[in-house]
Amino acid sequence: MLRFVRKYIEELLPRDKYVSNGDKTMSFNELKDQITTCQDCKQKFGFTPNPIFHGKERSKIMQISQAPSKKVHETGLPFNDPSGAKLKYQWYQITDDIFYDEDNFYITAIAHCFPGKHPKGGDNPPPLACANKWLAREIEMVDNQLYIIIGARAAKYLFPNESFEDLIFKDNTLNNKPAIVLPHPSPLNIRWFKAHPAFEEKRVPEIREIIRDVLGLT
Ligand code: SF4
Repeated sequence: MLRFVRKYIEELLPRDKYVSNGDKTMSFNELKDQITTCQDCKQKFGFTPNPIFHGKERSKIMQISQAPSKKVHETGLPFNDPSGAKLKYQWYQITDDIFYDEDNFYITAIAHCFPGKHPKGGDNPPPLACANKWLAREIEMVDNQLYIIIGARAAKYLFPNESFEDLIFKDNTLNNKPAIVLPHPSPLNIRWFKAHPAFEEKRVPEIREIIRDVLGLT
């Protein structure tokens, strides 16, 4: 019976999943300092990690993607790559000034560092230990109005029991706040876009309106 009740609570109150066991007295600035200096994955990666995230405690939108690309790792600016161009200019239709305004977006990911290249192509999977350690606390501490979750891996982590396609085409709730789920905007995802034309034709304009509303652009 107890196991059933716990499962019921975990499924219906996803907020509980993101209450970390960390130091409750940590300030937001202390959290940012700790993430910025984190080197937990140095040995696993084989190079010096560069944790990349951007925003402040009261950013209106918390955007959670998968992991920075190599270009983002090198430049230090999130979504400063072909994926970011599609996301910012085609889907959101906003300028860099709006996207990188910390009042607007808190930009983070399930892994805060580029995880290296996989020998068979593409990037290595994002280390979920990063999400368990840091993203959980960011979700607790950032006082956002809307979540945008980007990519199948991020969606699987945050909504483990739901179909990725279903999540994309409906309005969701995370931590008792509205949550939008997007496919990854990478040019490598072209097959998914071709197989789901309704996403860019119908869903993207709906999502754009929600974002503009939260940012006060309408
Ligand atoms: S990926 Fe996350 S846990 Fe690993 S070094 Fe970067 S910030 Fe630390």
